[in-house]
Amino acid sequence: MARPVVYHPRYSAELPSTHRFPMAKFKLLHQLLLDQGLIERKQIYVPLSISRRDLEEIHPRRYHETFSRDQLTRPEQRRIGLPATSALVQRTWLAVGGTLLTARLALRYGLANHLAGGTHHAHPEFGSGFCIFNDCAVAARVLLQRHEVEKILIVDLDVHQGDGSAACFQADERVTTFSVHAASNFPLRKVNSDIDIPLPDGTEDQDYLAAIGDQLPDVLDQLRPQLVLFNAGVDPHRDDRLGRLHLSNDGLLMRDRLVLDACLRRKIPVATVIGGGYDNLEPLVRRHAIVFRAAAEQARLFNLA
Ligand SMILES: [Zn+2]
Repeated sequence: MARPVVYHPRYSAELPSTHRFPMAKFKLLHQLLLDQGLIERKQIYVPLSISRRDLEEIHPRRYHETFSRDQLTRPEQRRIGLPATSALVQRTWLAVGGTLLTARLALRYGLANHLAGGTHHAHPEFGSGFCIFNDCAVAARVLLQRHEVEKILIVDLDVHQGDGSAACFQADERVTTFSVHAASNFPLRKVNSDIDIPLPDGTEDQDYLAAIGDQLPDVLDQLRPQLVLFNAGVDPHRDDRLGRLHLSNDGLLMRDRLVLDACLRRKIPVATVIGGGYDNLEPLVRRHAIVFRAAAEQARLFNLA
C-alpha cells in the first residue's frame, strides 16, 4: 500500500449551530480527502478515546476531571475559549487517542496522518487558545514511558508558538521542541522551546522555507529522534484570520514536503497532526488537505508499505 496510513476521529453534529464549525471541519476534510483520492477507505483507522492513565502522563486528574464535568472556573474556560459541551468533551478525549494511534502507526509504517490534533497551547494544568489537552505531548510521553521510543522531536509549524508543548517538556530531555511561528502572534507570553524560530509579520514563502530548511536537517542529524510529531498548522497562510505570515498554498505544500522528506530520507518515522487554521470552511479544509497530499507523494517516493 503505497499510501500513508490515515484515519479520522469520529465527529459529532450535536453542538449548537454557532459552535458546529469545528466539528464540520473534520467531517468535510475526511470527505474531501476521499473525493480527491488522497486517501482510501481501507487506510482509515478509527481511534479510541485516550485512557485516563495515558492522559495523566501529562494532565493531572484535577484538571481533566473538572474540564470533563464542566466544572472549570470562568477564567479557566475563557482562557480555552470553547464551550464545554458533551460533544466537545467527547471529541477532546478522542482526538488525543487519535494522535497516540497516529504516532504508533507512524512507528509501524513510517508515516501516518491524523485528521485532527495539534492542540499545542494546552499546558499540563490548564487549557488555552482553543486547546484543552495537549495531544502531541500526551502521545510523546506515553510512548516514552512505555519504552516504545527513547527520543522524540516535535516540529511545530503552526503559526502560533507551541508554548504548551514547551511547558510540558522543559524538564524532559527525551523530547525536543522546535517551533517556527509569527513572533508577534499569540501567545503573548511564550514558553521557550528547545529551538524557537520567531518570524516577522508578513514573512513570505521563500524566507519561511529558508528558515526551516536552514535548521531542521541539522537538528535531525544531531538529534536522531526515533519519531517526529509534525504539527502542520495551516494558519501561516496569507488569508488566515489569526495568522500574520504570508504563505501561499504552494508555500504550505513545499513546507510539508520539506519536513516529510527531511525525516523520511533519514528513516525517521513521522506522524502529522493538522494544527490550526482560521478561515471560511471551504478554503480552510482545502488547506488542511495539503499535508495529506504531501504525505501521499512522499509515501510513494519512499515506497512506504
Ligand atoms: Zn495556530
